Amino acid sequence: MQDRPTKLKEYKTYIDGKWCDAASGKKFQTFDPYTGEPWALIPECDKADVDRACEAAWRAFDKGQWPAMTQTARGKVLRRIAALIEQHAEHLAQIEVRDNGKLISEMAAQTKYMPEWFYYYSGLADKIQGAVVPVDRPDHFNYILREPVGVCAFITPWNSPLMLTSWKLAPALAAGCTVVIKPSEFTSASLLEFMELVIDKAGIPPGVVNVVTGYGAVTGEPLVTHPRVAKVAFTGGTATGARVNELAARTFKKVSLELGGKSPNIVFDDCILDDAVSGAVSGIFAATGQTCIAGSRLLLQESIHDRFVEKLVAMAKTARLGDPSKPETQVGPVTTPPQYQKVLSYIDIAKGEGAKCVLGGGPATKDEGGGKYFVKPTIFTGVDNKMRIAQEEVFGPVLSIIKFRDEEHAIEIANDIAYGLAAGVWTQSVKRAHTMAARLRAGTVWVNTYRAVSMTMPFGGYKASGLGRENGAEAIDAYLQSKSVWINNGPGGGNPFIMKTASSS
Ligand code: NDP
Repeated sequence: MQDRPTKLKEYKTYIDGKWCDAASGKKFQTFDPYTGEPWALIPECDKADVDRACEAAWRAFDKGQWPAMTQTARGKVLRRIAALIEQHAEHLAQIEVRDNGKLISEMAAQTKYMPEWFYYYSGLADKIQGAVVPVDRPDHFNYILREPVGVCAFITPWNSPLMLTSWKLAPALAAGCTVVIKPSEFTSASLLEFMELVIDKAGIPPGVVNVVTGYGAVTGEPLVTHPRVAKVAFTGGTATGARVNELAARTFKKVSLELGGKSPNIVFDDCILDDAVSGAVSGIFAATGQTCIAGSRLLLQESIHDRFVEKLVAMAKTARLGDPSKPETQVGPVTTPPQYQKVLSYIDIAKGEGAKCVLGGGPATKDEGGGKYFVKPTIFTGVDNKMRIAQEEVFGPVLSIIKFRDEEHAIEIANDIAYGLAAGVWTQSVKRAHTMAARLRAGTVWVNTYRAVSMTMPFGGYKASGLGRENGAEAIDAYLQSKSVWINNGPGGGNPFIMKTASSS
């Protein structure tokens, strides 16, 4: 274990380019999920701080240089952000491990990859362009401007705090928006370090990026409803997403939502078995199952079911639980106490529903490598797709295995769910790969791989898994709006009581 100092680190938040406490002076503790001990104090922002941050973001948007800066200059700032992340990637990874309990091996890879989002959108910044559009009116010159939407509110979850912020921040800044970010109350520290080491040093004008740390209802709701906010980008649970969507709708804000999932990982008997076993293990146990894209429903073709389960259990048994800051650890803690209770309660639900627990099935003891909030990698067989363990998101290291007969049956089971975030398919048949990709109702389909993401590929959910897409060239559209400009170069006048439609001219 790394040395963990006993004195609590005190963070300030970042509003209008200045470091400050919450107006109330209140702070709350943040915990190390491995030890369960508090390690830092975070400002507890409320409506007053949200007002301050939103007004600063509005000034920076309305009067400041950011949206008025040339697109090329904005692109250069994004490249500086990317370079600063590269410089501080290791430190940012360590903070996230401390606050979130994610494995250092995973976090090191994640923070190394994060700059690519800023490089990618820096390249798109000067390619935002409107169009000249012909209209069926003489002497008119019409064009479309692409303008930033304004102040954006980001609400982010605890499971990948910096990466999921980057997915929003890079396109929003490239578009010329200003932002106010509310991180999860459980994992605010890495964002505050990111602000200090990256944003504050990148040459971004004050007020362009602001942070309000605090609780969902007290900090999140005033932000989502703030009159200065034009767009809300939310990542989190489906129930919270619905609430955020309702609140934002009252003042007609644009909304994008990245929500939960219960993704099917489908294994056909023509797959390369060992690859599929590894894919199933990493699909559910990587990040301790705390990813929205977890392959938490493993659909196995009947003909390979028993052989596959045997290999899967053998591999999952070898997972080394332990201190997430050690590179050799393979499964870390559950991040938050409520999430820990939720995972354990779903294990009880599955047992009560009659699913057969073939691995794990409860908390991991110290001897098994466990720390404060550890759940053993858990596998249930004999799961029926109608059971709650098959239909509801656990967000932990718990896998449900469901048998299927053939392609049609696999599609029926896979799509019979409220969610539609992702799906995996393991097969060597090209025809089957394309058929499945076309028929699965999910925002991402992986064939012979799982959990891959890239800044170039759109990411988002069908059905209850969300609204809109992050990543890829289209993500920037979520931060832009079109303005139609009509220039009449011909004679004016005419009868004002005859409405001028294109066909009436
Ligand atoms: P929550 O939905 O509980 O919280 C997400 C964020 O919303 C947090 O910052 C939270 O603050 C805030 N929040 C809570 N209530 C409100 C409110 N009434 N108004 C405004 N903001 C509010 O999710 P978790 O943090 O528990 O994250 C896990 C969930 O996120 C999982 O269900 C997972 O599927 C989903 N997720 C989806 C992803 C995707 O891309 N589709 C990616 C990652 C996670 P606070 O922490 O203070 O409660």
